[in-house]
Amino acid sequence: MIRTRFAPSPTGFLHIGGVRTALFSWAYARKNNGTFVLRIEDTDLERSTPESVKAILDGMNWVGLAHDEGPFYQTRRFDRYKEVIATLLDSGHAYYCYSSKEELDAMRAEQEARGEKPRYDRRWRPEPGKTLPAVPEGVTPVVRFRTPLDGTVAWDDAVKGRIEIRNEELDDLIIARGDGSPTYNFCVVVDDWDMRITHVIRGDDHVNNTPRQINILKALGAPLPVYGHLPMILNADGQKMSKRRDAVSVVDYADQGILPEALLNYLARLGWGHGDDEFFDMTQFVEWFELSDVSPSPSRFNREKLLWLNALHIKAADPARLAGLISPRLAAAGIDPSSGPALSDVVTLLRDRVQDLNALADEADYFYRKRQPSAEDVAKHLPDGAKERMERFAAQLAALDDWSAEAIHGLFKPFCAEEGVKMGQLGMPLRVLVCGTTQTPSVDAVLALIGKDEVLRRLHAA
Ligand code: GLU
Repeated sequence: MIRTRFAPSPTGFLHIGGVRTALFSWAYARKNNGTFVLRIEDTDLERSTPESVKAILDGMNWVGLAHDEGPFYQTRRFDRYKEVIATLLDSGHAYYCYSSKEELDAMRAEQEARGEKPRYDRRWRPEPGKTLPAVPEGVTPVVRFRTPLDGTVAWDDAVKGRIEIRNEELDDLIIARGDGSPTYNFCVVVDDWDMRITHVIRGDDHVNNTPRQINILKALGAPLPVYGHLPMILNADGQKMSKRRDAVSVVDYADQGILPEALLNYLARLGWGHGDDEFFDMTQFVEWFELSDVSPSPSRFNREKLLWLNALHIKAADPARLAGLISPRLAAAGIDPSSGPALSDVVTLLRDRVQDLNALADEADYFYRKRQPSAEDVAKHLPDGAKERMERFAAQLAALDDWSAEAIHGLFKPFCAEEGVKMGQLGMPLRVLVCGTTQTPSVDAVLALIGKDEVLRRLHAA
């Protein structure tokens, strides 16, 4: 049984890099009829906040990556971590270290002066025949993991291929602080073990933690999961994405009118591909997804491509759903869609013209309320005599019994022929007078939707 997890630290917002990690973990579980676990890594009590937990849960909910188990919270598992620390102490895989901060600082300074890489010199590590220092008064010890002195830690990374690290490069890392609280790397290990995680799919900023975690798992006699480290997402300039420069929080994308399925489609294509296929839904993605197809090199975020995909997803989305999504924005603009044509019909007419939901909401306004036309449009499309012509056309509209796009369209040709004008000399002034803008879909469809009474009211008012 495949079990994957997404394990964010709640110290800020839900980062889109995190969403991609979650997406790949989720897809791998889905593909294999496995289980996707959500774990909140909130051991860092100073930096973790309830607001951030909420942002993560809301964000996951918004993108629609549903977990099968969890959310589990590390802060609720401290007793379990303490229990495992005790077993490691008992089996000799861990030991108490009484070195004070001052002592460690002095150790570091000496090593640096000698040009060595600073590291704990293992003075409290018990060895056969070694005499340990006398336990000092009043120092609460930390617990250190007894890292093997030689040999290598190796794993076949599902994304990066074989990775080998020599144990001599690793420290005897602290697994419990002086106050007894467990440290980050240790909690991850116990959790992945207890939660029976078979595939650890995470960002490659954790690659350095993996050999340490594998050593602890081995000491516990726990099975080793498969590790797959995903490369970073860079911004368009090839830099690490930053909150200051780039849209990095999922909320930013929601605010920009991106559909969650478009964001997931786009993120799926960052570092993974299936031939030339660009536009797909998550069912299709799950079917195609293989960890071995994930590229080991970083990819760059391309906003144009995201918007292009967003446009395709908007076009494919259910109009009633789109209507629901843009209603709050219309309401904020003081527009009440119940005062005019059904919003889902308006959306149907507009949805293949926009790249995001905000533009969709902005475009929908003139179906409910005429815009103030620009002086330029008025000068260009309503020259002398145009108003009189439009009055004659309004009379024909008024006489129309069948208020459909087809019937309205049927008036255009004969009218233009009679007046000796081109179609544009009718369509553009009509748009300016009825909508207040020339940027609309086909004018017959727009008039049909706005409705006879309202169209005539606007024409007469103008
Ligand atoms: N909590 C870590 C993070 O948010 C992820 C740890 C893991 O996936 O092992 O970066």
